[in-house]
Amino acid sequence: MRIATALTQVRQRIAAAAAESQRDPSEIRLVAVSKTQPAGAIREAYEAGQRDFGENYVQELLPKAQELGDLTELRWHLIGNLQRNKARHVVMLVSLVHTVDTIELARELARRFEGGRQTADQRLELLVEVSIAGEAQKHGASPAALGALLDAIDSLPSLSLRGLMCVPPLSEDAAAARPHFDALRQLRDQHGGVQRLPELSMGMTQDLEHAVAAGSTLVRVGTAIFGGRSP
Ligand SMILES: *Cc1c(COP(=O)(O)O)cnc(C)c1O
Repeated sequence: MRIATALTQVRQRIAAAAAESQRDPSEIRLVAVSKTQPAGAIREAYEAGQRDFGENYVQELLPKAQELGDLTELRWHLIGNLQRNKARHVVMLVSLVHTVDTIELARELARRFEGGRQTADQRLELLVEVSIAGEAQKHGASPAALGALLDAIDSLPSLSLRGLMCVPPLSEDAAAARPHFDALRQLRDQHGGVQRLPELSMGMTQDLEHAVAAGSTLVRVGTAIFGGRSP
């Protein structure tokens, strides 16, 4: 399928899910997840009107961003785990970091961003990733640690805290993700609500409808747009 056609279908899925839960579809942003996809596929999606793209790995993002530097409206989202020693590579490149999960990483991002920004009022936007199902091997802050992490980010004036993100456990059954999406929204409500945390990054190819029903504002979709990935 052509990427433009696939994008239209994903947008229709989002619109239908929004209508189903009486939400305004313009509240939901589609992040096209382009990991492992060549720069040409990203360009094709951009030409079809897509502007937000998600990458998981810094070493993959950097050459693509260079190659696609002429696409001036393109916004990169970092959606994979970020190691502190890679922070300096992304702070001036990425429009939203979805995966902050420790105070140390937040401090490093702030420090690097302050060193690179053009004016003192620029702020780096970020989300806190929550380990919503408590899987030990998964990245993300534990729900118990969330309050302290959010307060620490708020105390760093060069960072702009925008919301929460989660990746529920893999399952064959899309509906199995719903309780995790609801749990993320409840955490948001416990920690300041939409005033403090307007964005919820949740939902992928398989389960985006459930995420939209639960309040997602950023769905991260790869396979349904670009097709399968070779491992
Ligand atoms: C790969 C990935 C996605 C996209 O998954 P698809 O099932 O291909 O839509 C979304 N979020 C994260 C964090 C990912 O790593």
